[in-house]
Amino acid sequence: MEALEQIKQKKQFRTRPVRTSKIGRYVSINGRQLLNFNSNDYLAISHHPKLVLAAADAAQKFGYGSGGSPFLAGYSSLHQELEYAMADFLGYPSCVLFSSGYLLNLGIPQALLSKGDCLLEDKLNHASLLDAAKLSPAQLKRYPHLQLNKAQQILIRQNAKQNLWVSDGVFSMDGDVVDLRQMLTIAQSHKTLLWIDDAHGIGSLGEKGQGCIEQQQLESRQIDLLSGTFGKAFGTTGAFICGNRDLIELIVQQARTYKFNTALPIPDVAATLAALQIIKSEPWRREKILELSDYFRQQAQRHGLSEQLNNKANFFIQPVMLGDEQTALQQAQHLINSGIFTSAIRPPTVPSNQCRLRITITAHLEKEDIDLLIQCLLGNY
Ligand code: PMP
Repeated sequence: MEALEQIKQKKQFRTRPVRTSKIGRYVSINGRQLLNFNSNDYLAISHHPKLVLAAADAAQKFGYGSGGSPFLAGYSSLHQELEYAMADFLGYPSCVLFSSGYLLNLGIPQALLSKGDCLLEDKLNHASLLDAAKLSPAQLKRYPHLQLNKAQQILIRQNAKQNLWVSDGVFSMDGDVVDLRQMLTIAQSHKTLLWIDDAHGIGSLGEKGQGCIEQQQLESRQIDLLSGTFGKAFGTTGAFICGNRDLIELIVQQARTYKFNTALPIPDVAATLAALQIIKSEPWRREKILELSDYFRQQAQRHGLSEQLNNKANFFIQPVMLGDEQTALQQAQHLINSGIFTSAIRPPTVPSNQCRLRITITAHLEKEDIDLLIQCLLGNY
């Protein structure tokens, strides 16, 4: 097939590693046990007995599938309980669940914006946020990564009826974090609705796990809309968005990816409620990933790898910049040969000269694992 051939020629063909174990410190990938630096299960709870039991209990009581969209039979009392629990956890009046972060992100601009409005985005926002512009009648404007002064210039020039400004909280491939205070100041002086997708931060950042809002000491209600997914720190699947009652109700009424989509399976919702309890009651998991992330950075710098790090990535996503695609693929393969699982990140996910390994630090890991990773990155193993 021609299209497939082209993908291969451009060296963009990807294979999917097959996993046959739980996600732990080690994972079985394509039949080999590898040390795992390659999952978003940051708090190491995806197989926690409390999640598994909650899911099993809910399946006994409600069955597995939700049976339809939330406007048919899909919206159970557990979906409602999780919405209340997330709103309460993050300090918002209201919340609605979506089946995935991707669907959520596609749905929000379409639900909230009309022709003549402006959707403002960081160029490195998650693909789903950028794709959302295709479903929305608003005009997309993008600014260079984290250059909020450029965003401000766009807002000054823009004469839109309504601006919606969305940014990743913690950026998924770069590991850096947006300056929320600066964003807030700019948004307030340009009548702009502010939306943060903190998919990676919620659960993993901040003393209580409320994400980058807490880590930057803001009141959650200062940000109009706060969203995230359950596929990362929560160890389950699905997504949520919090805001004031009217905004959330408008999303419920208008977002096509909400209305025309089967609601989350009920066992998943039950497992997410259990995950939320762990996130609230076990701060040691967050402390551990921060400590390990610091350790990784210190050791990498000590061994001369500073140039390859992103000096703004202070947390559990650590890109190791390698330049071209070939080098990134070779290094990922070298690590696999040495028993370490990471991924080479390459176009179209990142520009062709910014290929990298994406290292994720999870609570499964120990310092000696990081020592081993660094020695392998240096080519000593
Ligand atoms: N937003 C961000 C910032 C993400 O990193 C991701 C997942 N990689 C998503 C949204 C999509 O979430 P989900 O996997 O739940 O579809």
